[in-house]
Amino acid sequence: MKQHLRSASTFAVVALSAVLLTAQTRITLPDNKYTPAQDVQLGREAAVEAEKQLPVMRDDAVTSYVEGIGRRLVNVIRPELGHSEFRYSFKVINVREINAFALPGGPMYINRGMIEAARTEGEVAGVMAHELSHVALRHGTAQASKATKYEIGQIAGAILGSIIGGGWGQVVSQGTQFGIGTAFLRFSREFERDADIEGTQIMARAGYDPQDMANMFRTIEKQGGSNGPQWLSDHPNPGNRIESINKEAQMLHVDNPIRDTRGFQQVQAHLKQLPRAPTTEEATKNAGRRTRTETGTSGRAGDAPTGRVEPPSSRYTAYDEGNIFRVSVPSNWRELPDNDTVTFAPSGGYGTFNGQTVYTHGMQIGLTRNEAHDLQTATDDLVNAFAQSNPDMGRPSRYERVSVDGHPGLRTTISNRNEVTREPETIQLVTSDLGNSELLYSIGVAPSNEFNSYRSVFNRIVGSIRLAN
Ligand SMILES: [Zn+2]
Repeated sequence: MKQHLRSASTFAVVALSAVLLTAQTRITLPDNKYTPAQDVQLGREAAVEAEKQLPVMRDDAVTSYVEGIGRRLVNVIRPELGHSEFRYSFKVINVREINAFALPGGPMYINRGMIEAARTEGEVAGVMAHELSHVALRHGTAQASKATKYEIGQIAGAILGSIIGGGWGQVVSQGTQFGIGTAFLRFSREFERDADIEGTQIMARAGYDPQDMANMFRTIEKQGGSNGPQWLSDHPNPGNRIESINKEAQMLHVDNPIRDTRGFQQVQAHLKQLPRAPTTEEATKNAGRRTRTETGTSGRAGDAPTGRVEPPSSRYTAYDEGNIFRVSVPSNWRELPDNDTVTFAPSGGYGTFNGQTVYTHGMQIGLTRNEAHDLQTATDDLVNAFAQSNPDMGRPSRYERVSVDGHPGLRTTISNRNEVTREPETIQLVTSDLGNSELLYSIGVAPSNEFNSYRSVFNRIVGSIRLAN
């Protein structure tokens, strides 16, 4: 009798998993110009930079707890997505905001604030399964593959190094050779939907209730406040997020899912006994100060821009940018040797600082993709991307309509404080809609007290842009 019952239930399980296989949504891999080995390499470089800046907790109780969840999830990544060269690692950052991020090839970082805000282990696992899905689906490098030669992520690593400070995108992109840290961390809505679905399935196979992923996203949304958590801007809601996750979850069947565990309660109790975590801003400011002092004492400060530059020549020289556009700049400016960005600056107006190129005077021109259907929204997105992680950046002035080689454009100025000189600087941003979701933008930078004489130079440069057909 007992024996008979057991075989009956075995049969039921087999039948169920057959249903499960046919019913779940199959996520396809996006196009990717990189190799899995490059994912590992790029992720490793970004991880080194991230760990220089962010306070990783060296606390066995906390670390082994998230590692336990991480391993459990990694073990059930579907075989087609199992890249043998990937090295998954799980670390906790001692900051209070609700956030987490994962880098190509495997390194994952979870904020202490995320563990503190979660109500169950299932919720922690939900965010981790989502992040893990981005890694397994290789979304970081797929996102970078979509980028044209002049992509915003790379810009964030270069000229915006002087504009952006403090936030993760910047922290991670600082000093990396490719400067595409931001591209790794901010995903399209399409990739978000895929990571939600893939993560839901990973949750179920690992024995968690997939609806806990939706529950955690709700928790994150609730903590939004005026700016909203960074996690939400890096992982934009693809639309009906909670409903889609729950719909997928209904197709998956998990018996007695893991929710609240003893381990979870212990780790939360342990965290309560520690001194309160600093904010990310406090933590990264300290890291920045340390680096700045070291830079000064090691004599490398001499590499930084001096800010003393010749006035722009009234003669202009034309440059042909790889069949993308032509542009003319003052003859005493030069194009900086960088494969990824097109930047023009005068001698003394640029240099390297903490391994990144920084400018006090100059202009950078780039192309980026934007899914927004109108220029105003696309420009707002761009400005918000800068502003998110930049404590010193002001709000843009009123947008003025301009034209860039016949394409409708917007122009605005933004005040900032230079990362190196700490002097006020003014940024002139011009964006224009090239159609096909392509946005051309230029960023002119000059110290605020010189901006009036540079304004006409920036306008003349932008006016000289001719797009290739
Ligand atoms: Zn995401």
